[in-house]
Amino acid sequence: MANLGIPQNTIAVLQKYHFNFQKKYGQNFLIDPGVLERIVSASQITEDDCILEIGPGIGTMTQYLAEKAGKVIAVEIDKALIPILEETLSPYKNVMVINGDILRTDINELVRERNQGRPIKVVANLPYYITTPIIMTLFETQVPLISVTVMVQKEVADRMKVGPGTKDYGALSLAVQYYARPEVVANVPPNCFIPRPGVGSAVIRLVRYEEAPVKVRDERKMFGLIRAAFNQRRKTLINSLGNASELHISKEEAARALEKLGLPSTVRGEALTLEQFAVLSDLL
Ligand code: SAM
Repeated sequence: MANLGIPQNTIAVLQKYHFNFQKKYGQNFLIDPGVLERIVSASQITEDDCILEIGPGIGTMTQYLAEKAGKVIAVEIDKALIPILEETLSPYKNVMVINGDILRTDINELVRERNQGRPIKVVANLPYYITTPIIMTLFETQVPLISVTVMVQKEVADRMKVGPGTKDYGALSLAVQYYARPEVVANVPPNCFIPRPGVGSAVIRLVRYEEAPVKVRDERKMFGLIRAAFNQRRKTLINSLGNASELHISKEEAARALEKLGLPSTVRGEALTLEQFAVLSDLL
């Protein structure tokens, strides 16, 4: 089967199957062998690895992954792509394609069944409309992971790696940085895709920590506080926490905890570091 990273080969497959791009599924297929090789090399794939690819499209990156990995599991939502994948991936006996929505897939069960529960690597050119829920699900549902190497919208890559005091800092930054070390591997312009996306893209690699960089007694509680703090990011932290009925924290309790932390009562959530959220969570 021809290398789909080469634009003419992708165009030939799309024409053969009269494929119509579905905007609602965030379909922008990669057509740049250099970028594909960069993603695969950043993922540090060996024959021992089981890779989960989210959204294989017509199988372009899947081909590159199947050459290096022991096993590739690819989950694709668009039924129209399944017969195409059967053809483009037919030479690879180590690939399993599943037709389904990744956000409705029990990934933990998939890992148990297909990789005996051993940690996997996630590699994908993600559909941009659901980047954040996919990343949050992978970490929060405790999928056994070594790393996540994904193409995302450039701004989202920035959001994952920034700290307090910047406009991009938010719940995604804190979740990612609690679970993994983020590193931008490449910036990718729109002309590397068909059709071209309206935004710049970046490949980000998240290597999961064996031990979280901060200690907290109740992770779920801390992330509840973080979500509330950034839901109303222009409000003071005391008001955001006091107004979030699901937290059952009074404004007085929030004020006392901030005082113990040595923070002013007017402070906003966006000024706190991950470590300060962890201490705050333990105090409350
Ligand atoms: N991997 C291919 C490539 O690099 O050329 C395609 C990447 S394209 C940006 C995103 C892919 O994710 C599309 O094939 C799209 O149909 C698929 N997709 C969108 N939403 C999905 C979902 N909820 N679950 C699984 N796949 C999804």
